[in-house]
Amino acid sequence: MSHLLGFVLGSSCLLYIGSPSGFGLGSNWLLYIGVPLIIGIWAQIRVKSAFGRWSKVRASGNITGAECAREILQAAQIRDVEVVETNDFLGDHYDPTKKQLHLSSNVYNTPSVAALGIAAHESGHAIQHARAYAPLKARMAIVPVTMIASQMLPFIIIGGLFFGITGLITLGIWCYLILLVFQLITLPVEFDASRRAKIILREMGIIQPGEEAAGVNRVLNAAALTYIAAFIAALGNLLWLMSIRDRR
Ligand SMILES: [Zn+2]
Repeated sequence: MSHLLGFVLGSSCLLYIGSPSGFGLGSNWLLYIGVPLIIGIWAQIRVKSAFGRWSKVRASGNITGAECAREILQAAQIRDVEVVETNDFLGDHYDPTKKQLHLSSNVYNTPSVAALGIAAHESGHAIQHARAYAPLKARMAIVPVTMIASQMLPFIIIGGLFFGITGLITLGIWCYLILLVFQLITLPVEFDASRRAKIILREMGIIQPGEEAAGVNRVLNAAALTYIAAFIAALGNLLWLMSIRDRR
């Protein structure tokens, strides 16, 4: 889980507001900004509804997300990762720098199908880290530069589009390129964590085949969709900024 999609959609809105009038609503706009925005909102709705539905279904294993994560880490012989509770809704993530597995309260304290799926997915990231999974290492390596790019981006868009500073638009293009590479590397990391989660939950008997397993799939597949949507949105934003620069 991450708030990556929200960030990208926010910058899409900025791009929309700041787009120069005249060609602001042409066919490129629809393709680069409009369609990705709709896909992103749809993905966001799907992940919330999948979580909402399956967080009400109690898993027969009757352990909370926190207990599930600790059992998985123990079985994987990972002893240096701490499982902690966070208040941030759907803010579940694994922090490799602190070796902390953050689970939102709804996941941490709940024995639901959704909670176990998410707890197992985040544990999957901890396992990737412990096993030195290459895409995770690559992702960690570009986190600092991605943070800088994403913090600068809103100001760059505002300066570039609202005040018509072409140099800032070029800088914005570079920022989106960095974000795009980051999101591209994120895809295998996320898919692999969910793949591991599904196998582990089944093998450890935490989730039963049938309805429970289907619920886990729904939640994790919806989450995967948000990463694909974030990638598409960032690609659209990049192409849109490039087309704006070309027309100046
Ligand atoms: Zn993840």
